[in-house]
Amino acid sequence: MAYRAEYIWIDGTEPSALIRSKTKILQDGEEPGLWGFDGSSTNQAPGSNSDCVLQPVYQVYDPIRGGEDVLVLCEVLIPDTMEPHPTNHRAACREVAEKYADQDMWFGMEQEYTFFKSGRPLGWPEQGVFYPAPQGPYYCGVGATEIAGREIVEAHTTACMKAGLMISGTNAEVMLGQWEFQIGPLGPVEIGDQMWIGRYLLYLIAESFGVDASISAKPIKGDWNGAGCHTNFSTNAMREDYDAIIKACEAMGAPGVPEEHLDGYGHGYEERLTGLHETAHYSQFRYGVSDRGASIRIPWQVAQDKKGYVEDRRPNANIDPYVVARLITSTVCSALA
Ligand code: ADP
Ligand code: MN
Ligand code: MN
Ligand code: MN
Repeated sequence: MAYRAEYIWIDGTEPSALIRSKTKILQDGEEPGLWGFDGSSTNQAPGSNSDCVLQPVYQVYDPIRGGEDVLVLCEVLIPDTMEPHPTNHRAACREVAEKYADQDMWFGMEQEYTFFKSGRPLGWPEQGVFYPAPQGPYYCGVGATEIAGREIVEAHTTACMKAGLMISGTNAEVMLGQWEFQIGPLGPVEIGDQMWIGRYLLYLIAESFGVDASISAKPIKGDWNGAGCHTNFSTNAMREDYDAIIKACEAMGAPGVPEEHLDGYGHGYEERLTGLHETAHYSQFRYGVSDRGASIRIPWQVAQDKKGYVEDRRPNANIDPYVVARLITSTVCSALA
C-alpha cells in the first residue's frame, strides 16, 4: 500500500529558524529520496532561483499517523552545488563529531518551552488581570491551579516514545504554562536530529489542541523565568575521571571561549542570562558544584562519584542543537585530546 513520508526541514527565518514540513505519498517499496521546495518562501533562496533540495538524513516511525507512515528529517542543499545550505548546521556538526569520534561525546538536552493560547501563556487569566499568582507552586506542580497543558505534554511524550526517540523525562517548569522535555544521552549529530523531531512533534500535537508551543527564550518580561535548553555533556574521559571534568570546565571558560559559545547559544540570551532566575549573567563565566547560578553546573552526584558529566546552563530554548553540540564538542574534545 502507498504510505506517507512527512519531509521535515529547518528554514532560514531570522533570528531563530522555524520548522517546515510537507507530505509525500510513496508507493509500496519506494524509499524517501531527494525532494525539493520553494526556498523563496522559507528565507532560503531568491524568487528568481528559488528551488532548494531536501536530502533525507534521519527517519523515524510517524507516531501520529501510524501504519507505514514515517517522519523524514532532511538537510537543505543548494541545487547548483548540492552543498549544505548555509542556514542548515548539521553538516558542520557532523564534521566535528567525526573528528573527535574517539572521545565518544554524549549530550542530553533539556528543552524548555511555553504553551500559548490567544496571546497568553496557557493557564494565565483570560479576563481582568493578565498575571497569575507569582512563581512558586508551578515547578513540578500537581493540580489545576498549578498546571496547564498536561494533556498536551502527555500526548507529546507518548508520541516521542512511539517514534523511538531517546526522550528521558519531562517536567512542569517554574512559570505557569512552561514545560520541559529531555532528550539524550546521544552523540552530537544524533542529539540534534532527535531534538528537531521532538520539537516537530511538540508543535504538531499542540496545534491539534489549538495551542502554540513557543521556544522563545524570554516569553514574558519581568519576574518570570526564561526558557533555556540546558546542555549536559560528557566525553569518555569525563565519565571516568574528575580531572577531565575540571579540564572541560576550564576549557569552556578559557579567554574568548564564552563569547564564541554565546554567539551560538540562541537569540536573545542577554535577556535571559541576567544573573537572576537561576542563571549566571552572560558577561561572567563560572562553574561550580550544584550551583544553579553558575554558567556550568557540576551535578552533586558527579562531584560525589568523581566522574560523570556537566551541565552548560547557558543555551537558550531557541538554540539550534547542532550548533551548540558542535561548539561544545570542538572546545572540550580539543582540550581533552
Ligand atoms: P536537571 O537536574 O538539570 O533538571 P534533567 O534530569 O532535566 O537535569 O536532564 C539531565 C539530562 O542529562 C538528561 O537528558 C540525561 O539524559 C542527560 N545525561 C545523563 N547522563 C549524561 C551523561 N553522562 N552525559 C551526557 N548527558 C547525560
Ligand atoms: Mn531539567
Ligand atoms: Mn528546566
Ligand atoms: Mn538543568
